[in-house]
Amino acid sequence: MTKTKILPPTDEAFAYPLLIKRILNDSLKYHPENEIVYRDISRYNYFDLNKRVRKLANVLRVLGIKAGDTVAVLEYDSTRYLELFFAVPMMGAVLHTVNYRLSPDQVLYTMNHAEDKIVFTNMDFIPLLKGIKKKLKVKAPCVLMSDTGSRPDQDFVISGYYEELMKQASDQYDFPDFDENSVATMFYTTGTTGNPKAVYFTHRQLVLHTLSGALVFGGYDSVCRFRSNDVYMPITPMFHVHAWGVPYIATLLGVKQVYPGRYEPEMLLRLLLTEKVTFSHCVPTILHMLVSSPVVKAIDLSHWKVVIGGAALPAGLAKAALDLGIDVITGYGMSETCPILSITYLNEKDKDMDIDQQVAVRTKTGVPIPLVDMKVVDEQLNELPKDGDSVGEIVVRSPWLTQAYFKEEERSKELWVGGYLHTGDVASVDEKNFFKITDRIKDVIKTGGEWISSLELEGLISQHEAVAEVAVVGIHDDRWSERPYALVVLVEDAKATAADLQKFLKKFVDNGTINKWAIPSQFDFVEAIPKTSVGKIDKKRIRAEYKV
Ligand code: AMP
Repeated sequence: MTKTKILPPTDEAFAYPLLIKRILNDSLKYHPENEIVYRDISRYNYFDLNKRVRKLANVLRVLGIKAGDTVAVLEYDSTRYLELFFAVPMMGAVLHTVNYRLSPDQVLYTMNHAEDKIVFTNMDFIPLLKGIKKKLKVKAPCVLMSDTGSRPDQDFVISGYYEELMKQASDQYDFPDFDENSVATMFYTTGTTGNPKAVYFTHRQLVLHTLSGALVFGGYDSVCRFRSNDVYMPITPMFHVHAWGVPYIATLLGVKQVYPGRYEPEMLLRLLLTEKVTFSHCVPTILHMLVSSPVVKAIDLSHWKVVIGGAALPAGLAKAALDLGIDVITGYGMSETCPILSITYLNEKDKDMDIDQQVAVRTKTGVPIPLVDMKVVDEQLNELPKDGDSVGEIVVRSPWLTQAYFKEEERSKELWVGGYLHTGDVASVDEKNFFKITDRIKDVIKTGGEWISSLELEGLISQHEAVAEVAVVGIHDDRWSERPYALVVLVEDAKATAADLQKFLKKFVDNGTINKWAIPSQFDFVEAIPKTSVGKIDKKRIRAEYKV
């Protein structure tokens, strides 16, 4: 470390730790009257949110939760979850957002590994908890959250009901100041092998991520802005990387927020319309489900801005969304990175570009957001030229990256080799700082000594009019080592054969986009493509299930 001049503060100077309570306090400054809505069930404003967060802290205190304890939550996207997003870390405890879509064994593993002290659960997850109860180290308490007031049968003991406990609790609570490096949240991410790994984020990290997120969505001359006059509805589960941290950004800005509960297409579309939602984010699968819903054609979606992340945005899907008037762009990040690292960038005036040119920009992985130092490197960590062509791994530094996996020394070291967080994503970067991911390292298809990008192939195949969804993986080939193999879901009532798709791809060979050996020799047409617990294409399962 370079020696610099550091001057001592005067005795009573306040160092102002960056704590999550600052975000909630700021929600009262500009538009406290804005509403926070839960399905068609409840609505209140930011004064109420602040009051309910204080009540919830009292509920937690009465149940014996102290600073440093971990609080597990199994819940859909609700205002209750938003309250927990604030109350738990603000009292100094750690919020463990449990991924209820994992297998029961994995849920059990994560809850025991996290050393949870209490569980807040939606009624719907009681059967899951019952199944793992005997091996679960958290014996009590368990707080039940239910929309209908329904209660579990007597063999499942709970300590109280969320709304009843809230009613009894005082709305006075003085949230303390503490070290900004205290852990605020944690959750688990599944890899290709081994048990799920826990990432964790501190108050300082979440506050900086929130500020940078607000800046990138509000400060630049680009499409898909997110400002205080927007109406926000997440469609990325709150258990997964805090719904990409956007509820914290939304609360800082004091925007109207809409929580859809369990994702049901009809409810999502209804809320979009009735609550006049203008800003959301989701994985491509969800957008695909919504834009291919038959009712969507009758709905005006021209005020809806959507950030797609978690996986590449296929060109075909981007086009379909733009045709419906949706302002769609790509964001990039991962569980380990809080998550936002880059957002693609298209000037307002560039909206006049023709649709194919727009799609080319909107589907890029994006430009790193403020405070993110991201580069593409070779195996020796040498930075590759920004020529839009050289491909290597994305490595990153920023103030909000998990500093380790919880209780996983070896895997933590691998993540941070050479002082950079290794994403495992292969990309190129151009002279304008646009990154373009071509694959996960493990998904790159190596054929006859060449690398083929499975994502690029998926993007091209997705543009065929008969293709609804597509996944491409490498399959073993004695001669070429690997060959691309495509799994395709066709649009309802549409017809296409492998030969049709090969002929379609030939056009991209002729115009130099891909090499001829990139055309898959094998296509399979299926009803559905295997997906992960967060709705992404599951290439691990494809390889296992299709024995490729
Ligand atoms: P997760 O930790 O489950 O959120 O997954 C993170 C991974 O999703 C990244 O490492 C990428 O492989 C992938 N991913 C996220 N965003 C994008 C994107 N915009 N384009 C391509 N892949 C993405």
